[in-house]
Amino acid sequence: MIKTEKILHLKSHRGRKVRVVREHYLRERVPCYSSLCQADCENDGKVLPGDLTHYVVPDVGVVVDFLEILEFRELQGVVFTQTACQAVQHCKGRRQYNRLRNLIKDPRHDCVLFANEFQEYSYCPREKGESQEKWQTRCVYSAAVWYHNHLAGMKDVVMITEDQDAVAEYSSLNAGVYVISVQDFLQNFWPELQPAHELYSSISQALQEKESESSQKEYTEHLPAEILEAGIKSGRYIKGTLNINKHHDEASIMTEGLSNKNNGTELHPSWAVLVCGNKNRNRAVHGDTVVVELLPKSEWRGKVTALSEGEEKSGEDNESKPMPTGRVVGILQRNWRDYVVTFPPRDGTQSQSRNSQRILAVPWDRRIPKIRISTQQADALQDHRVVVRIDSWESTSLYPNGHSVRVLGRAGEMETEVQTILIENCIHVPPFSDAQLREMPVNSPEKPWRMDPVQVAERRDLRETHLVFSIDPRGCEDVDDTLSVRSIAGGKLLELGVHIADVTHFVAEGSLTDLEASTTYYLADRRYDMLPAVLSADLCSLLGGVDRYAMSVMWELDAQTLAVNKVWYGRTVIRSSYQLHYELAQALLNGEPAEVPELARLEPEEKDAKLAELNQALETLTHVARHLRAQRDRGGALELEGVEVRAQLDEQRNITALVPRQPLEVHETVAECMIYANHWVARKIQETFPHQALLRRHPPPRQEFFNQLVESAKAMGFTIDTRTNKALADSLDRAVDPQDPLVNKMLRMMATTAMSQALYFSTGLESQDQFYHYGLALDRYTHFTSPIRRYADIVVHRLLTAAIAVERGADSGRAIASNKELEELAQHINSKNRAAQRAQKLSTVLFQCLYFKERDPQTDPQCVADAIVYSIRNNGLLVYIPEYGVKGPVYLKNREGQVVAAGEDGSCEWQSGSLRHYSDRISTTSSCGTSTFRLCDHITVRISVRSTSSHADSLNLEIISNKPHRSAEPQQPHSQGRSQLVQEVVRQAEEAQQQAQEKAARRPKLSREEREFSQSKTPNLYSLLEEVRELALMDLDTAARVCVTSAS
Ligand SMILES: [Zn+2]
Repeated sequence: MIKTEKILHLKSHRGRKVRVVREHYLRERVPCYSSLCQADCENDGKVLPGDLTHYVVPDVGVVVDFLEILEFRELQGVVFTQTACQAVQHCKGRRQYNRLRNLIKDPRHDCVLFANEFQEYSYCPREKGESQEKWQTRCVYSAAVWYHNHLAGMKDVVMITEDQDAVAEYSSLNAGVYVISVQDFLQNFWPELQPAHELYSSISQALQEKESESSQKEYTEHLPAEILEAGIKSGRYIKGTLNINKHHDEASIMTEGLSNKNNGTELHPSWAVLVCGNKNRNRAVHGDTVVVELLPKSEWRGKVTALSEGEEKSGEDNESKPMPTGRVVGILQRNWRDYVVTFPPRDGTQSQSRNSQRILAVPWDRRIPKIRISTQQADALQDHRVVVRIDSWESTSLYPNGHSVRVLGRAGEMETEVQTILIENCIHVPPFSDAQLREMPVNSPEKPWRMDPVQVAERRDLRETHLVFSIDPRGCEDVDDTLSVRSIAGGKLLELGVHIADVTHFVAEGSLTDLEASTTYYLADRRYDMLPAVLSADLCSLLGGVDRYAMSVMWELDAQTLAVNKVWYGRTVIRSSYQLHYELAQALLNGEPAEVPELARLEPEEKDAKLAELNQALETLTHVARHLRAQRDRGGALELEGVEVRAQLDEQRNITALVPRQPLEVHETVAECMIYANHWVARKIQETFPHQALLRRHPPPRQEFFNQLVESAKAMGFTIDTRTNKALADSLDRAVDPQDPLVNKMLRMMATTAMSQALYFSTGLESQDQFYHYGLALDRYTHFTSPIRRYADIVVHRLLTAAIAVERGADSGRAIASNKELEELAQHINSKNRAAQRAQKLSTVLFQCLYFKERDPQTDPQCVADAIVYSIRNNGLLVYIPEYGVKGPVYLKNREGQVVAAGEDGSCEWQSGSLRHYSDRISTTSSCGTSTFRLCDHITVRISVRSTSSHADSLNLEIISNKPHRSAEPQQPHSQGRSQLVQEVVRQAEEAQQQAQEKAARRPKLSREEREFSQSKTPNLYSLLEEVRELALMDLDTAARVCVTSAS
């Protein structure tokens, strides 16, 4: 090892130059991470494959400015030098540096880090008078040469640089080491990788533009980090996440409960600080972690509370009392992501720059400011949606600068809009990669999959001893769960078994499939599976008549009292005898004639015997489930599930049409068994790993959230008791208007809106009294029963496996995740789930809009519907339209100050007049007299689509009569409306697509992405929606969570 000195010239945050001398140790052996290594380097971990045509060594400038291009998975064999990585850390900050580190760590990318400055023969000290840039380039070149020599000339090395001098200087120095520009590199090696070419030109244009920025200040400078930190500590500044209201030019900061000494005001932890206007926001973008300074109290303001377009938020912020108001003085953490934008129409408004190619793109998300980008495609992409990234936002620039990444497609087309929703929610659903599919087991007619004898020997074999069966929606392919029940110990005991697909047997921790998995995404017309089909629909799926691995929980219950005697957890081998669907199982239980397909070919005698056996099992199961249910009820389980929760699901998940009004008891039975299994697995993993188990909790709701519910109910003459979950459920049951079943539905909707979200967490983070699941009334709960569709269940399966190993006295195998790691994972899953729900909701709105967009609201009877008032606002009503499952605002006062007046026959028109609002009603007065609109009134509305080219369409509801719609049947919500709606829109889109394909030859090709994403469409809408419902059934709290998401 050689010791030397390294002299660094660093720039401090304030621009001072600092000379730092560091001791620097050089070594002869530094890992090369190449599989071609002949020198026995200690290449632990990821190595570059040997079968590449060349290695790529990007120089400092390329890694700093063009990292996004290096992130393309197609680009293989990339060697990142230490020199380049340090430069990124130094001039791009922590966020970009972490991004680079993650890229290097990611096993899906063929790239490695080479510590070139520690390698004796690669390191070159900086020469006197040599500029930092020149020296860095020389270092990187030296590293490239080292690689070529180290691998004995077996591999060509390509150094890429944007420095033309370097190309001239180095390109012919060494055979086998090429020095070329990024553009040449892409053209020579990746001529087909169009997205990379487009990205290159958009980034390099943005870089050129940046050089020609003006110097006039538009915003105040941000304060340096050390001043911000000190200010936060002293209470002068407040730190929080910027949350922009999409309807008004105002934002708020959720603070972290700091008291503010300056103003003598104790800030309540849940108080928000208001930030009004662009200047005070000072370049902070929605989601950024910012530091604010409070303004003097005289400048404090209240929130805007009137009902504004598209807003359907209800609740607490009715009063507009002045609240703490501030301005942003610094930004601690940017939260920029990919944004979908449209280019503005070219009517000459874009002449704000010398360069006519610079345009202000309008983000789809109204909370994001316009983004200035440079493009040569502004005209060609007029009506398209484009993905862009923000690069910088200097104080001299009114808008942030960015570059375009790729084109999604024409705005307004179904596929473009669906992709927009995914990107806006940071949902990335690439097709399963080849590498991932290579990890998968094979099951084909030529090479059928068979169980491993070693596995069979290690597992408890239930194939001969247990009658195992599944009950799922009709046509279900991915069977997560099966059940068994039998009498043992001469009838003294019952043995109940829940057997779940053993997904973790096939999905190893840290494998590519494991890394990609997060959840199954359900949109209105499709789903994106979490696991490849060979697992989800085949080898993991507990299909009838085939041998499968399972993860089982089996209880020995006292046959009389059903008290738990013993619980067994472990891996098993099962063969499900019957794959039943709900209707069939219920028919068998009811003693109705029903054909069981598995028995169809048997002789009558054998058939009867088997049928009797199956019936006996179903009956016992029902008996046990009723008992378990009663047990939870005594514990105070919230009676929102059953009909109500499923009805609640209608509002948010839009599957009204498929939910039976009287659910079958067998639904409850299966759900109860799954809840039981989830509960007992939660107990097991929490008891074995008290500080590092993944559980799911549902905090009790805050009482003040029930205010609106209580007030509204009171106005209608009902009393709602919210003191306990049981009291709430009972009082909701009593709040029934015999004339109008929708009234009860409204109240339940409000109750659900008041609920908290259920969340995953690590047990090390919370005290045990916080583990409680309010909705289910269980002290501990987790997700174990749907590992094919939810990633949390996979984590829980691994924890359970480790717990079983500990129980057997064995070492728990490998170390399980720490509390901190598990908590990070829990947060990640929680945020993925929220994104999935937002996307699902947005896609539903998208389909509603596509449906009505085709219709003329003035003439089409479909556009007129019955609506019920569920909330009163300052200037209007919030209504629910049962026929379409639509919720939205109806205005009673317009911008001209006119109000809605109802005539003798109920028909409404705009008149000049005034408006008064009360807690339970709103009245308008005009020359025609007074019209009053009350909670739970039925009115008639006209539905039309409010279209904007840049944002999502929304529905516009206009009152046309204060009387119920004539043809409406409020007793029976239109039972097929919703699914027909989606189907019709899909059909129209498919026809349009077909027409487009016929014309495709004439149509210019835009980019690969346009086609790439049309994957994974489910052929059968019915089965898809059935699955959604079935999934919801397993997770009763989901309903509450969805509603809260939409209301917050
Ligand atoms: Zn080596």
